[in-house]
Amino acid sequence: MAITGDQSFLKHINRMALIRLIRGRPGWSRADLAECTGLTKSTVSQLVQELIDEGWLAEDDALVTGSIGRRPTPLRLDDKRLAMIGVDLTLGSVQVVATALTGEVVASSEQKLASSAVADVIGAVAQRAAEVIAEVSRVQGRRVLGLGIGVPGPVHEGSGVLHHAANLDWHNVPVRSLLQQALGELGWPQLPVFLQRRAASAALGEVEFATTTVEEPLLFIHLGKTIGAGVFVGGRLLSGHGGFAGDVGHLQLVPDGPQCICGRRGCADTLTSLAAMSARLGVSDEEFVARVQAGDEAACAAAREGGAYLASLIHQLWLTFDPAQIVLGGIASRLGRDYVGLALQVLQERTANSRLQPPPVSVARFGTRAVAIGATALVFNQLVRPV
Ligand SMILES: [Zn+2]
Repeated sequence: MAITGDQSFLKHINRMALIRLIRGRPGWSRADLAECTGLTKSTVSQLVQELIDEGWLAEDDALVTGSIGRRPTPLRLDDKRLAMIGVDLTLGSVQVVATALTGEVVASSEQKLASSAVADVIGAVAQRAAEVIAEVSRVQGRRVLGLGIGVPGPVHEGSGVLHHAANLDWHNVPVRSLLQQALGELGWPQLPVFLQRRAASAALGEVEFATTTVEEPLLFIHLGKTIGAGVFVGGRLLSGHGGFAGDVGHLQLVPDGPQCICGRRGCADTLTSLAAMSARLGVSDEEFVARVQAGDEAACAAAREGGAYLASLIHQLWLTFDPAQIVLGGIASRLGRDYVGLALQVLQERTANSRLQPPPVSVARFGTRAVAIGATALVFNQLVRPV
């Protein structure tokens, strides 16, 4: 029995390796895979055939090489037959997307949430997710691999419990089991559900769906209504002992600053988050963004004030994690010159005299969908673990 177990584990590892290799090197043939992995050609052929049958891989037309004999058949991830569901859950809204293995969005749904009661929110998430699952499975004919959900607080990945979410006023909520039960009642039982902090999910989206080489450590800073970060290093997310590594919205930037929802004062969330900047003007987040983009002087001044604090936050995170690249995402990352632009300028000025230069900073590929698409990357990451 032990031998069977080992063999099945080894086979699983080999399958994952082949999927990841083809994802990184589309166009490789079975022979390329055998050479790179050291597996025999017959083992590779058998595994590749299984992966093609199950919808993971697809074959392109054989290349014309001019040589005699069988031509190598290029392989790639199949973007037509499988789907992964991703959910972005935050105060007041739920966003659901389905992506192909390549990260391309193939269906979506969203809803504003008036209530933050656990039963109401889980019910709404399940409803929207069921709608998207039905679309991709019944209309598009895809098999759904699982659902990932980015939540606004630290999680315990193993048990699927959200420890706490201050803005929702949730404590020790078993999100995975509640969601699986609700999806079961809607006709989608036993769907694998994976849970992660919102910013950590978004970081995974940058990594798993990258089109170029990812430099590690990668630091993702999510600039939304609140602020969070995700760190990808050594081939995996840095979760920390208690699941809250990267909960940087509560780093204290000003000791006697504004009161924060966490009970302390002067946290980054109270100074440089979108919620803090729009509250300074007494307008909604959406209106604040619109006013900054329209060049409204008061809004731009508030954005610049927030941008100066953002520079402090990025500086501290840079020194803490020494990332090779920083990615900024979330709706506030679109505020441009007066916020992100100013923050980067201040950062450059502060570090001009030091020998260390900040790493390159870029804007997230998936914009306001970074968390939801990242949550689908969480499904890929968990099912096809790095090897
Ligand atoms: Zn705080």
